[in-house]
Amino acid sequence: MFLIFGIKRLKRRLATMLAVCGHCGRPAAQVIVRVSTWFSLFFIPVIPLGTKYFSTCTLCGQTMKIDKDQATQMVTAAQQVAADPDAPAVPYQASQPLPYQEAPPAPYQDGPPPLPESSPSPLEP
Ligand SMILES: [Zn+2]
Repeated sequence: MFLIFGIKRLKRRLATMLAVCGHCGRPAAQVIVRVSTWFSLFFIPVIPLGTKYFSTCTLCGQTMKIDKDQATQMVTAAQQVAADPDAPAVPYQASQPLPYQEAPPAPYQDGPPPLPESSPSPLEP
């Protein structure tokens, strides 16, 4: 009798949320992924061996391991943002307009300088 068994990893994307990355320090979309490891028999996962949570920064690509509480908090926050589409989107506005500067006048030019007529070419004898 044959027994086909092995380890199976199931990866599931839980949420994507905007947060400040702990690695690059910039606000970027963080993808929260749950990876659960299973003992599988005949390619069917039967016994859970463990679950890990990861957060991947879409800006710098750094993946960080987070614990279950952190993942739950981030998923809840992402769901709250997703559940409120009427939240006012505040576009970025500069507090003061940039000071207007006049462009300096272009230097007057007669045209390209004349080429010297008797310049010896190194390619011709
Ligand atoms: Zn980052």
